[in-house]
Amino acid sequence: MFTSIAGKSVIVTGASKGIGKGIAEVFARVGAKVLIVSRSEEAAQKTVEGIVKTGGIASAVAGDVTRESDMELVANTAVERHGGLDILCANAGIYPQTKLESMSVTEWNEVIGTNLTGNFLSVKACLSHMKGSDNGRIILTSSITGPVTGFPGWTHYGASKSGQLGFMRTACMEFAKYGITVNAVLPGNTLTEGLKELGQEYLDAMAASVPLKRLGTVEDIGNAALFLATKEAAYITGQTIIVDGGQIIPESLEALQEA
Ligand code: NAP
Repeated sequence: MFTSIAGKSVIVTGASKGIGKGIAEVFARVGAKVLIVSRSEEAAQKTVEGIVKTGGIASAVAGDVTRESDMELVANTAVERHGGLDILCANAGIYPQTKLESMSVTEWNEVIGTNLTGNFLSVKACLSHMKGSDNGRIILTSSITGPVTGFPGWTHYGASKSGQLGFMRTACMEFAKYGITVNAVLPGNTLTEGLKELGQEYLDAMAASVPLKRLGTVEDIGNAALFLATKEAAYITGQTIIVDGGQIIPESLEALQEA
């Protein structure tokens, strides 16, 4: 299954580590040609080395999603190196925590600028190149935080992640005439390098709040993105897939413990 991805040209933003790296590895495993994007080319190159070592096709380019010219360069690079552009995984995002009472406009703008405006600039730069594809796919990495849940310190983050879905619902209509679909994956707590640094005790406590009793892996998120990118998902657009082990389901702590 999912053989339609072999040979496709894919851009993954924020792929030097974490979920983006996981998405890139999943796509490379099924034969895609993946362009790894992060602000640091050196860090992006590390992801490339891992993919190439296992027989995959990938290359790195530095790009800041908050800069229009960077994202145009990224899209052009995919076309030059990989002969076109089929799939964009707009994944780059940041999640600094600040309670609203002490949040500055600068902090607010940084999160909205990266997570929401960065999404817009990534999609805009890729659109003209994707029109030539027979498998145009845009997959946004949103979150359960904002669209479904709340978490203290993340008003800006939640707004940006909900904003991505509002953006998606109109973009998918505008791009339908080009055969390009736009969908989103909404990860729950996902085990990334950053999360591991918080220690085993913290990880265990977080896993206990998930009905499936484990945190998500970056591969879990990559698999959902991969499905949305396939030929088999051609009739799905403007939709979301929550990948959270059931985290948002229990209506109370008691409900979770009762099970
Ligand atoms: P992460 O481990 O901190 O990685 C973030 C990636 O984005 C890095 O490659 C970083 O590389 C890149 N990046 C940051 N700012 C950028 C910018 N302005 N331009 C280009 N690249 C940039 O984060 P993550 O946990 O994997 O999260 C990835 C996405 O998943 C985010 O959109 C986040 O909101 C979402 N998400 C994560 C979780 C979770 O539990 N981890 C849950 C729900 C949703 P550089 O620093 O080199 O640029």
